[in-house]
Amino acid sequence: MIRLAKQIIPKKTPVPEQLPAERIKNYDEVIQGYTTEQAMAEANRCLGCGRPLCIAGCPVNVNIPAFLNLVARGDFRGAVNLIKETNSLPAVTGRVCPQEQQCEGRCALSKRFESVAIGRLERFVADWEATRSSTLTPEIPPPTGNKVAIVGSGPAGLTVAADLAKKGHQVTIFEALHEAGGVLVYGIPEFRLPKVIVRREVENVCRLGVKLVKDFVVGSASTLDELLEEYDAIFLGTGAGLPWFLNLTGENLNGVYSANEYLTRANLMKAYLFPEYDTPIVRGRRVATIGGGNVALDSARTALRLGAEESIIVYRRSRAEMPARIEEIHHAEQEGVRFELLTTPVSFYGDQNNWVKEIECVRNELGEPDTSGRRRPMPIKDSNFRIPVDVVVLAIGQSPNPLIPKTTPDLRISKNGVIVIDNETGKTSKKGVFAGGDVATGGATVILAMGQGKIAAKAIDLYLKTGQW
Ligand code: SF4
Repeated sequence: MIRLAKQIIPKKTPVPEQLPAERIKNYDEVIQGYTTEQAMAEANRCLGCGRPLCIAGCPVNVNIPAFLNLVARGDFRGAVNLIKETNSLPAVTGRVCPQEQQCEGRCALSKRFESVAIGRLERFVADWEATRSSTLTPEIPPPTGNKVAIVGSGPAGLTVAADLAKKGHQVTIFEALHEAGGVLVYGIPEFRLPKVIVRREVENVCRLGVKLVKDFVVGSASTLDELLEEYDAIFLGTGAGLPWFLNLTGENLNGVYSANEYLTRANLMKAYLFPEYDTPIVRGRRVATIGGGNVALDSARTALRLGAEESIIVYRRSRAEMPARIEEIHHAEQEGVRFELLTTPVSFYGDQNNWVKEIECVRNELGEPDTSGRRRPMPIKDSNFRIPVDVVVLAIGQSPNPLIPKTTPDLRISKNGVIVIDNETGKTSKKGVFAGGDVATGGATVILAMGQGKIAAKAIDLYLKTGQW
């Protein structure tokens, strides 16, 4: 039989989006998602490669060509079930994964054309499932009698909880905040990941029989050792919630926020609805955000939605080195965020009432690559200049909260405050305690946290079955 070569469609099927001028006046999701016809057409672009590199680019190894094939044939139920075999949060990962560095970056089409829009299709089938009256729940084996405590309900914790519940273990998640989801609810804004979607994914995990205890701070309400008296194993997925500061003069002026505080107020505590909601936020006219990652762009775009006339990103390297998702950079540019690239702040200045008024910065040029592989910013002599501001948001990174290590002396911590784990298993230095996600990496991506969660869940299951450490 003669096999005809598939006709290559070079560009991704465009996805409907809210127009920039409209969306900066609301918090609704920017990308509106594919229609059924658009999704099937896009899935049809997949070449069905014999050796699909896209799978190797996915940290949880979703069988991408197989799910795309099901979407192309209109079998959305089959597609979502297949994804969920390895990824329990597809509506989230479809929206926030840096696909261009992962599956889509490895797609065979991306060498000469645009890759298949894998993330948009993952999101499409997850959203399709959410509109059905019932979501299928996998059959759970008989209870094993083992009890596992998960500390933190972010992507790593939810993944471990789902995987262990599917193996018949009794799982309880302890969440410090009043809402489950970790960084997905306090960090990522509504316009990029609506809370209703996170709630839906949390409900899906709870439908597997997982118990959720909110407003419970492990390390304060109960120590790890106390939890170990009741539970056979513990997974720590507490994330990285301790913001970094620059230690510059004037950093403690009024109007200077950490991105963690700024986004938590705006997002989780709904400060944009103040005074209807209790939490206030300073609505600056000129807001500068320091940093070049997704957290910085989320802050700069939130500032616009809070009414800023000017929202400025101050980043020390060039656009090419920005760690943020390309789509987020593009959306921020469309919305009018101004980029002061190759720029480093050196001091903050305030008025007589100690409100921040100006940032002094220096211009940089790029030198040799540093340990991150990116070219090092080198200050240019006598290039100092000032930017007038009334709010500054620092989004330069974060590390894990030290509360649990402080109350658990035999838990080994690295110099930069992350919990030391065995990468093959997620085991910590303390018997029965595993960890993964940002608490062990210091801040990475949702999908890498989920990948580590999957590794830890497998190791926890083995530990519960054999008792071997
Ligand atoms: S690499 Fe791209 S074209 Fe090949 S199977 Fe994966 S998604 Fe399809």
